[in-house]
Amino acid sequence: MKTVIIGGGLIGLSVARALAERGTSDVLVLERHQLAGGGTGKSSGIVRTHYGVPSIAAMAWRSLPVFEQLGAEVGFRQTGYCVLVGEENVEPLKANTAMHQGLGVDVDLIDPDQLQSLWPMMNVDDVALASYEPRGGFADATQLALHFGQRARQHGARIRQRAPVARIRTSGDRVTGVELDGGEVVEADLVICATGWWTRSLAETLGIDLPMEAYRSELLVVDAGEPLPDLPVVSDLVSLQYCRVEGAGQFLVGNSDHSDFQKKLVDPDDYSNVAGEASILAYAEKVMHRFPGFPDPSVTHSYAGVYDVLPDWNPVIAPVDGLEGLILCAGFAGHGFKISPAVGDLVADLVLEGDSTDPAIPASDFRLERFAEGRPLVSSHPYVGAGQMR
Ligand SMILES: Cc1cc2nc3c(=O)[nH]c(=O)nc-3n(C[C@H](O)[C@H](O)[C@H](O)COP(=O)(O)OP(=O)(O)OC[C@H]3O[C@@H](n4cnc5c(N)ncnc54)[C@H](O)[C@@H]3O)c2cc1C
Repeated sequence: MKTVIIGGGLIGLSVARALAERGTSDVLVLERHQLAGGGTGKSSGIVRTHYGVPSIAAMAWRSLPVFEQLGAEVGFRQTGYCVLVGEENVEPLKANTAMHQGLGVDVDLIDPDQLQSLWPMMNVDDVALASYEPRGGFADATQLALHFGQRARQHGARIRQRAPVARIRTSGDRVTGVELDGGEVVEADLVICATGWWTRSLAETLGIDLPMEAYRSELLVVDAGEPLPDLPVVSDLVSLQYCRVEGAGQFLVGNSDHSDFQKKLVDPDDYSNVAGEASILAYAEKVMHRFPGFPDPSVTHSYAGVYDVLPDWNPVIAPVDGLEGLILCAGFAGHGFKISPAVGDLVADLVLEGDSTDPAIPASDFRLERFAEGRPLVSSHPYVGAGQMR
């Protein structure tokens, strides 16, 4: 079976790896620029299991051993990971943590004093409860993507860069291949579209309505003023920020306040790659509130990336009703890195077995039709003020 994967980011390359490793002989990845040059290259690389949707948490948990086995090869630093909540979110945190423990995840609730001992420079005055995953941390998304690419090649897959796909070709109700810019036609029995935020326009040419938005997200790098040890990654659902150590004395800070979502929609091919002054001030204030113990903090630089966001902030990983030979695999928003190993495995299951082989990861969760049917994939225990944490 000839398989074309469009997109050489983490997801396309993980899918190529999984298919090639499981014996699919004719796999070709077509990447319009260079590998990992899309959302993957901007990823904060945080590894954790904390999700409100059980199948996503299960995917994160199934993926964790990959980071642990690859270790330094993908820059994995197992610093631990914690979620902090205020009083209003104590019940959802308890419910989500219990759900994670039911999946077998190594996680515990900790009180503010325990949190303070893990994170001595942190102000915990407004923290009511936290959960702590000792096996979480962060890694390098580009390195992981390149690792998947290398494994795919070792198992016979081919990868072409600077090969932009202009359109997906069809005959009747089935896909027959793709056409590149310049007119070259590549025939295929199966086309897997792993094109991040560009998936919307490729799908549109097939008459498929993919309700995806391109949402700009800004990040700051803060110098703490002294070398930092490997402190746990923090998802701060009180101040709505996430933070992790960067390098030795630096600190990467991202925004988790998505209340002005509509104002941050951008053209993913043309957006500002630096944070605006107002954002820098607002984020710096949140950092100073949470980490008053930094001896001499300063913002060293900022940048921005774009999330591919579907209405429930969860991906579509599925064939499309009425069109044979196509699988869409996009809409990972800010979460595709940590689950990318399991996503590749799920797509390989869909292709080779016709369904997920993991009961904790039902393929039906990721159907496109869920939006039209009004059945979004959402958490049973959403966080007040931080619904996108899922
Ligand atoms: C700022 C930021 C921070 C993030 N932080 C985290 C995090 O901490 N943890 C986490 O788990 N996730 C995080 N993510 C999310 C994660 O990085 C992404 O979900 C993941 O990298 C997406 O991979 P992808 O392969 O779907 O998309 P991409 O990496 O965007 O890859 C898609 C590829 O398709 C190619 N392409 C597009 N159109 C065509 C075409 N027509 N022909 C050929 N090729 C084409 C593009 O060039 C691109 O290389 C973050 C994302 C961003 C933006």
